[in-house]
Amino acid sequence: MAVPRFWRELPVRYNLIGSHCTHCDMYHYPPRSMCSGCHRESIGKLEEYQFAGTGQVVACTVVYQPQQGYEMHGPYPMAMIEMDEGARITAQIVDVAPELVKRGMRVEAVFRKLGEDSDSGIIYYGTKFTPVDEPEEEEDESADSVEAEL
Ligand SMILES: [Zn+2]
Repeated sequence: MAVPRFWRELPVRYNLIGSHCTHCDMYHYPPRSMCSGCHRESIGKLEEYQFAGTGQVVACTVVYQPQQGYEMHGPYPMAMIEMDEGARITAQIVDVAPELVKRGMRVEAVFRKLGEDSDSGIIYYGTKFTPVDEPEEEEDESADSVEAEL
């Protein structure tokens, strides 16, 4: 998958850039210089890969004592997310009450403010995840059929 130059120049944590082993088809995040699946066989066969950003929660916890700079979030949910390609990432879940985050929830990556250094005023940004609205039986059927045609 081609990665636009703009994103390529940003740090890895600003976007879901990982690596893909073309030898055994394993995906890694963050990117690795050697595949954790086939090790030496992967030399020269790893390529940069931008994850689609969709996946599901495989484990979650609520952080009640935010780290310095994260105070503005109060208690917030952190989850281990298995991306659809197979790699796992730990990230904050936003736009949902902490108690509603559960295993199997579909999520997608969003680019959000991570925190702020109150002394320097520096604002940190990074990838977080937000729940994906699953097609429910009560959804408007016309909207579903439009999506199916895409
Ligand atoms: Zn491999």
